[in-house]
Order: sequence, then structure tokens, then C-alpha cells
Amino acid sequence: MVIGGGTPAWTVIVVPPTPSAAPKRLGVKMRTIRMLVMYVATAAACLVIWETGRSEAAALAAERLSEARIEILALRDTMQTLRTASMAERIRNSPPVDMIMPVSGAAVSSRFSHSRFHPILQIFRAHEGVDLSAPAGTPIVAPAAGTVKSVGRRFGYGLTIELVHTGGIATRYAHLRSANVKPGQQVEAGALIGAVGSSGLATAPHLHFEVLVKGTPVDPIKFVAATRQPATSTPPTVPASVAAPVQTQGTPVAHQLPF
Ligand SMILES: [Zn+2]
Repeated sequence: MVIGGGTPAWTVIVVPPTPSAAPKRLGVKMRTIRMLVMYVATAAACLVIWETGRSEAAALAAERLSEARIEILALRDTMQTLRTASMAERIRNSPPVDMIMPVSGAAVSSRFSHSRFHPILQIFRAHEGVDLSAPAGTPIVAPAAGTVKSVGRRFGYGLTIELVHTGGIATRYAHLRSANVKPGQQVEAGALIGAVGSSGLATAPHLHFEVLVKGTPVDPIKFVAATRQPATSTPPTVPASVAAPVQTQGTPVAHQLPF
């Protein structure tokens, strides 16, 4: 294509690809050329403005996306913190699971009872724990994780250890020969806490083991067995069979000396 000069119009000579065909002449007015140029310039300007706007909008969108991402992360972090706190609270309020007996393989020489004849005191009174017969020096282990509440000598009980566990559960170990823990100490399930003895009112070496649910003694054997049931969606609760002993008439002595 050839554009020839001239006023007031341009002459465009269109030369065909085959030399035998005659070239064509087209007259193009200056006004038409100017308008064409103006249209092209306007379109280019519009394109530039649109592209600029689009990149600005994209930058803004990216910034908002980044802000939203930060908010989501913060929200997720808060939810995680709340979930952890809620889980910790649930563990604190749930009784221990999979408890073990503090002396393994020991024979039960006296069961939990609301009224039994005491061999030394020669009176009927409650036995608020279970007696596990074992040779002096037999290791006593914590049946569940907990904190040592007290270690000391008590009338009748002799050398005694008290542990507190989650869910308002406490355990007591009496007639010990020795203690391996100190008050305030954290113990894991199965940790050595002391040794079987016959301190206090005891006719032979044995461990007097008590389990208290919110301060009320329950049958330790039934309670420990209940914590070992197959896992369910709900934490174990104290079964009715090991619930608080019924207060019988005229037995105040029994509750003062429950070892
Ligand atoms: Zn006892």
C-alpha cells in the first residue's frame, strides 16, 4: 500500500500482488484521516486508563485479600486457644480414666463397707476403703496422675499419703512404711509414691486404699474398674453402685475412724 501526498485529499494507490492487474487509486480526505487518527488515539487512551484502573483495582483487591487472610488467621488462633482452654477445663472436670490399683496383684483382706467389725477396735464401723494385703516394703504406685495433697502421720491411719486427681477425685493411702513423695509434687499414673507397712492401727502389713468423690468415700475396687470400661464419647461418671455410703443411725464413731 502506498500513500501519496496532496491537498486537500490523500490519494491511496492499491497495488495488487500480480503485475498484470491494474493498480487502483482511492481518494481519502484529510478530515477522514484526522478522524481515524483521533479514533485510534482515543481508543489507545481509553485502553491505557482502563488498564491503569484495572491494575489499581487488582492492587486494592490483593491488599483486602491479605487483610482478610490475617483476620482469618487471627480468628483461627483465637478458636484454637478457646478449644485448648475448653479441653483443659474438660480434663480438669473429668475423673481419671484407666486407673490402676496402687498395689498390683495384692489380695483384698477387707472390702469397702458401711459397717464392719474392726479387729483391733472391736466395734462395728464403716470401712471407707479397701485393704490390700502385701508384704512390708511392697511398692505403692499412683493409680492415676495427680498432685500430692499431704504426707504425714494420722491417728489410726499411720503414715498416710493423699493425692488429688481431676474431676474432684482424691485417693488416700494409709499404714505406710515409707513415703517417696512430698506435698505439692505432681505424680504420673504408675509413679512410685510409697511402700506398704503397718503403721497406725494395723494387725499386719497392708495398704488401706480410699477413693473419695468430692470428699465422699466410694468403693475403690468398683471405682477403679469403672474407669477401665471401654472408651465412650462421654467421660466416666461415678456409677450408682459406688455412690456415697448411706448414713446409718448411731454411727458417728464409724465416720471418725474409717481406716
Ligand atoms: Zn482399711
